[in-house]
Amino acid sequence: MFINGTWLERQDQFPVTNPANGELIAQVANGTREDAATAIAAAAAAFPAWSQTTSYERSALLYRAHQLMREQQEELARLMTREQGKPLAAARIEVAYGADFLLWFAEEAKRIYGETIPSARSNQRFLVQHRPVGVVGAVTPWNYPVSMITRKVAPALAAGCTVVLKPAEATPLTAMALFRIFAAAGAPAGCVNLVTAAEPAPIGEEFCTNPLVRKLTFTGSTAVGKQLATLAAPQLKRVSMELGGHAPFIVFADADPVHAAKGAALVKFLNTGQACICPNRIYVHRSILEPFVQTLLDRITAMRAGNGLDQGVQVGPLVNQAALDKVDAQVRDAVDRGASLLCGGHRLTDRGLDQGTFYAPTLLTGVRPEMLIYREETFGPVAAVIPFDDRDDIIAMANDTDYGLAAYVYTRDLKRALRSFEQLQFGMVGINDINPTSAAAPFGGIKLSGLGREGARLGLEEYLDVRLAGITI
Ligand code: NAD
Repeated sequence: MFINGTWLERQDQFPVTNPANGELIAQVANGTREDAATAIAAAAAAFPAWSQTTSYERSALLYRAHQLMREQQEELARLMTREQGKPLAAARIEVAYGADFLLWFAEEAKRIYGETIPSARSNQRFLVQHRPVGVVGAVTPWNYPVSMITRKVAPALAAGCTVVLKPAEATPLTAMALFRIFAAAGAPAGCVNLVTAAEPAPIGEEFCTNPLVRKLTFTGSTAVGKQLATLAAPQLKRVSMELGGHAPFIVFADADPVHAAKGAALVKFLNTGQACICPNRIYVHRSILEPFVQTLLDRITAMRAGNGLDQGVQVGPLVNQAALDKVDAQVRDAVDRGASLLCGGHRLTDRGLDQGTFYAPTLLTGVRPEMLIYREETFGPVAAVIPFDDRDDIIAMANDTDYGLAAYVYTRDLKRALRSFEQLQFGMVGINDINPTSAAAPFGGIKLSGLGREGARLGLEEYLDVRLAGITI
C-alpha cells in the first residue's frame, strides 16, 4: 500500500495469480478499513497545499508521469498480461491508452477557465470559478487495470484534488507500478494513496461514509455501483459511476456484411469479451445474415487462445472460475432454448490450458429475447447473433435493455446513421466504427450504465465544484 508518500507492508497478505496458468505471482498487503481511513486523512492533509498549486505545476507532474509511463510501457504491459491475462499486444495498447489520459489532463489542467456573467444591476459583477471538490475515493476494476486508474487519477490531480484509490483485488500489481510512477513524477506525500485489499466492501464503506471524502468515483458492475451510490447518498457526495453495459451492434441491410463482421469480431473479443463496451446483442438484417455469419465464424475459428505472453495469442483467459461458469451458463441456456451453436461453447483444456480459465471463442445464432444472454452482460468470448427483418423496430429492440453504455451501427446511409444515433439510448455510439473511445472523448453511459463522464473536458468537470461570487462595486 502507498499511504502518505510511504510504501507499507502488512503481515496479512493476499495472493495474486496468473489466470492463464494459476501461477502465484506475488503476495500483496491486505488493507483494512482503518488503512483506508488513514489514507483518507493523509489525502485530506495534503489537499490544502495541492489545491493551491498552479495548474502549470499540476500539469508538469502529469507530463512527467506520462513520460515515465511511456518509458515503462513494456514492463507495465508484461506485468498486466501476467496478472490480468490479456495478450501482450493488447496490454501494450492499454498502457498507451492509459498514458494518453495523463497527457490529455496535463493539457486540460491549464484550461480550467472561469466566467464573468453580466448582472441586471449596474453595480454588480458575477464571477464564476471552478474549484477542486476535495478528497476523492476511487475504485477500479481488473479488466483495464491501468487505464481505468489514469482515467480517474489524472483529472483528479489536474483539478487539484487528492486521491485514495482501491484497485481490484485481481490486479493490484499494475496499480502499484502506476503509483510508483506517480511518486517518481513528484506527487507530494498524501496526494495519491493506494490501498490494496482482498475484501473490497469495508474499504468502499469507508470511502462512502467518511466525511473527508467529497467525491466517489467507481468503475465496475452496476450492482456494486448502486450499493456504493446508496451508501454515499446520506452525505450527498459527488459520485461518478462507470458501470456495466449490454451493447447492441446493428448491421443494416445496406451495410457491407464482411466489413461489419470483421469489426464485430474485433470489438466482441476485445479483452476476451471482458470489456464494458463489448457488443452483447449483434443484430443483423436477414438479407445479409449468411455472409456476415460466415465471415464472423471464419474470424472466430482462426483465433488462438493461450497465455498472453505467447506469440500469436489473441484470446486470453477469463479472470476467474466464476466468470467462466457464468459465460458457460449463458451459452447452455441459449442452446437449451433453441439458439444454434456454430463454434465453441466449452471450456478449453488442451495444450495445458486446463491450468487456466479459458473459454473457447463462441458463436451463437438465433438468439432470442427470452434467453439469459439477451439480458445479462456476458463478459466473455461469446458472440450472440440475432437476425432482424424490415418489419422489426430495430431501434426499439436495441433500446430494450436497462443498460445504456455503448452501441454500434453499420450502415452506408447517412440519414439512417444520424437517426439511429439520436434514437439509441446509449452514451456512446460507434457508426461504422468499433472504437468510439479516446482520452479526448467523453466516455460513459446512461440508464443503469452510470453517471458522469470520464476523459475529455467533461472528465475534468467531475472533479470541480462551481463557485460563484456576486460582487457589488
Ligand atoms: P465489480 O463491481 O465486482 O468490481 C469492481 C471494483 O469494485 C473492484 O475493485 C472491486 O474490488 C470493487 N468492489 C466490489 N464490491 C465492492 C464493495 N462492496 N465496495 C467497494 N468496492 C467493491 O466489477 P468487476 O466484475 O470487477 O468488473 C466488471 C464490471 O465493470 C462489468 O460490469 C463492466 O461492464 C464494468 N466496467 C465498466 C466500465 C465503464 O467504464 N463503464 C469499464 C470497465 C468495466
